[in-house]
Amino acid sequence: MQLLRKINELKSVLGADRQNGLSIGFVPTMGALHLGHLSLVDLAAAENDRVVVSIFVNPTQFNDPNDLKNYPRSLENDLSLLSSRLCDYIFYPSVEEMYPDPDTRKFDFGSLEIVMEGKFRPGHFKGVAQVVSKLFSIVDPHKAYFGRKDFQQYSIIKNMVKQLEMPVQLVACETVREADGLAMSSRNALLTKEHRQIAPLIYRFLQEAKDESVAHSPEDVRRHVIEKINSVSLFRLEYFEIVDDLTLKNVSTWDEEGVKVGCIAVFAGSVRLIDNIVFEK
Ligand code: AMP
Repeated sequence: MQLLRKINELKSVLGADRQNGLSIGFVPTMGALHLGHLSLVDLAAAENDRVVVSIFVNPTQFNDPNDLKNYPRSLENDLSLLSSRLCDYIFYPSVEEMYPDPDTRKFDFGSLEIVMEGKFRPGHFKGVAQVVSKLFSIVDPHKAYFGRKDFQQYSIIKNMVKQLEMPVQLVACETVREADGLAMSSRNALLTKEHRQIAPLIYRFLQEAKDESVAHSPEDVRRHVIEKINSVSLFRLEYFEIVDDLTLKNVSTWDEEGVKVGCIAVFAGSVRLIDNIVFEK
C-alpha cells in the first residue's frame, strides 16, 4: 500500500499499471473511514487488479464553513483500516495540490440539483462535481464505487459521467449500517451520547414508511414520517421526500413506473444525517 500526495506521482504509478493491462478500481472518500467505506474498497478489490482510495476533504462542496472545520479527520486510523484491506494506493492530496487555482468550471444538473440536498445545501453538488471530475481525470479508473447512502450524489455523478462522456463504469453499493440500523457515516462520530441514542429512529421510521406504503399513498406516508420525526424533540427535520430514482421528482402514486426512494435529512443536535429507503413495488 502506497500513500501518494502528488497528482504526478499517482498518475505515474497508475500509468505503469495501465500499460501492464491492469484494471483500476477507484473509491473516492473524505476519510474518517468506517465499514461503509471499506465495503466499497472490498468490492473494488474483488472487481479490479488495482485499488485506489482517495482521502480528501473537499472544501468546495461544503456550504457551511463550520461543517468543513468540524469534519472528522483521522489519517492514522484510516491508514490502519486500509492496511487490513486490498488497497494499493491511497491518494491524499493537499487543497493546494487539488486546487492550485480556483475552480471556476460550471456544471448544470437541471432539476436533479435543486431538490432535497440541493435545496438545503446550495452549491454542494457543484463542489462534488468539481472534485469527482478532477479525481476521475487524475485516476482515470475503469470502475468507480459510490455508496447508495448518498443517493442524490450518485444520481448527480451518473449524470455528470453521461454529460461529459467519461469512460468510467459507476458501481452503486448498498448502505452499511450499525447493528441498530443507523447508516454508518463519518459524521456519526460527532453525535453526542443522547443524539446517538435516538439516531437509529431515522432508519426505523423509514422502515415503517415502507410497511405503511402497502396501504397508504406516497403523500400520506410522507406526512406520517414527517410527524414521527417532528415528535422527537432532539431531531430537526430538513426534508423527507418520496421520489422517482431517475428524475428525483416527487411521486404521487405507487402505480407510476420506476423505482421510488424515500430520502431524508435530519439534524440530530448539530449533526446532519441523511438516509434513504427503496420502496419495492
Ligand atoms: P464520504 O467519505 O462520506 O464522502 O463517502 C465516500 C463514499 O462512501 C461515498 O460514495 C459514500 O456514499 C460512501 N459511503 C458513506 N457511508 C456509507 C455507508 N454507510 N455504506 C455504504 N457506503 C457509504
